[in-house]
Amino acid sequence: MKKVVTKRHILLQLRRVHYMNLYKFLDRVLGSLQYRSFVVWFYLQNLGKLWIPYLETHLCDHCNLNCKSCSHFCPLVTEPTFTDLEQYTRDIRTLSKKLAIRTIRLMGGEPLLHPQVNDFMRVTREAYPHSRIFIVTNGLLLLKMPNDFWETLRQYHIRIHWSKYPPLRDKFAEIYKHLKKHRALLEFGEMSNEDIECFHSFSPFSPNGTEDPKQAFKGCMSKGCVNLYRGKLYTCPACYVFRANEYFHANHEVPEGWDIYKYSGKELQSFLNKPIPFCRYCHHGVHPKSFPWEVSKRKAEEWM
Ligand code: SF4
Ligand code: SF4
Repeated sequence: MKKVVTKRHILLQLRRVHYMNLYKFLDRVLGSLQYRSFVVWFYLQNLGKLWIPYLETHLCDHCNLNCKSCSHFCPLVTEPTFTDLEQYTRDIRTLSKKLAIRTIRLMGGEPLLHPQVNDFMRVTREAYPHSRIFIVTNGLLLLKMPNDFWETLRQYHIRIHWSKYPPLRDKFAEIYKHLKKHRALLEFGEMSNEDIECFHSFSPFSPNGTEDPKQAFKGCMSKGCVNLYRGKLYTCPACYVFRANEYFHANHEVPEGWDIYKYSGKELQSFLNKPIPFCRYCHHGVHPKSFPWEVSKRKAEEWM
């Protein structure tokens, strides 16, 4: 006999899977549709151009949170170290003439510490009108940002990536309300509380540099995290290991960057697709370490 599906049946089914789960499911599906439409649009806008999927860059190297094992070595930067706006403007404009970028993340360190954060957002958008641009923050300063910060976000269509950590646990609701009030586009801030309690470190280093670089590169989860730092592009955040060298008086080989003023976009493709000498310091086949979040004690073991 044919089964008749009534409105009541549907409501009962919805109740069984809980409305909230359904809401989250739809949110995920619609979010992914929106992202896919963006990807198609990005390809059409950049037909025939060289492009990379992802780039991140520091607005400052220091941080106001200093998480244990930070993969950008920010806890080891003990003096305020800001990126120079003029140099960054030259860099990002030069880069935009050589290649398109799908996603750009302005980060640090904590980028909201930079007094010219609005200008960084503006020049990035002007150089890359078709990219998804994020400002990545730990959120500590979100409630204190002046109105012109929120206006700049809206004007240049910059999204916020809020990495939630335990010290702000009591402020989550207030921050969400604040973001909503300022009509900020938020992504990735909805992690569950269990995720927040854990820190995931993607770069456990082998201190003796005895790993096979090819194998390490093959299994590496950070190799797509291209970093722009002071006129050069790097395969991954290992470029900031010079901070560990400074702090621990060590002598690890610092990765060589790709000079954006010297080389063409074509040469970049091959540069990014092969291991760098520093890969021998990365454990291969090791999954990211997860451990309870805590403030760094600035011990070398945190990065091993
Ligand atoms: S908030 Fe981010 S940049 Fe700052 S120390 Fe933690 S992981 Fe590093
Ligand atoms: S140095 Fe090589 S293996 Fe290590 S994080 Fe960078 S790309 Fe990956």
